[in-house]
Amino acid sequence: MKPNNYSKDFESEIIVKNSPIHGKGIFARCEIPSHSLVMVIRGEVISGYECEKREEENNNVYIFWNGDYYIDTVNTDKIKYINHDCNPNSEVQDRDDKTLNLVSKRIIYPGEEITMDYGYEEIYEDCSCLTCSTNK
Ligand SMILES: [Zn+2]
Repeated sequence: MKPNNYSKDFESEIIVKNSPIHGKGIFARCEIPSHSLVMVIRGEVISGYECEKREEENNNVYIFWNGDYYIDTVNTDKIKYINHDCNPNSEVQDRDDKTLNLVSKRIIYPGEEITMDYGYEEIYEDCSCLTCSTNK
């Protein structure tokens, strides 16, 4: 599958509002079909060293991993608010050196919060995402 091969994205149909998971979240305003490009993840491209520094010194939790580089989305208005779910409706896929694709894993319905799996160990300890709190 070609990661770049999406004719449109749904970024204009994504809104930010308060989330039942944590703080603010991003929500779909329309139905997003399965395996569609939800939006392109853009930000400042930084090195692993700079990433560690920003996470430690500035508590920056808005950095995405992109192979040899990292993408700091702290200055973006939508993607930085995406919340974690252990059974998410979207996932991050490769795109190019500077950007990533956020792709739907199934149909996302209007009004539904868009989630991804953050994928780092600590998130699964005492996780309070909707999937985990429903299964408790
Ligand atoms: Zn969870």
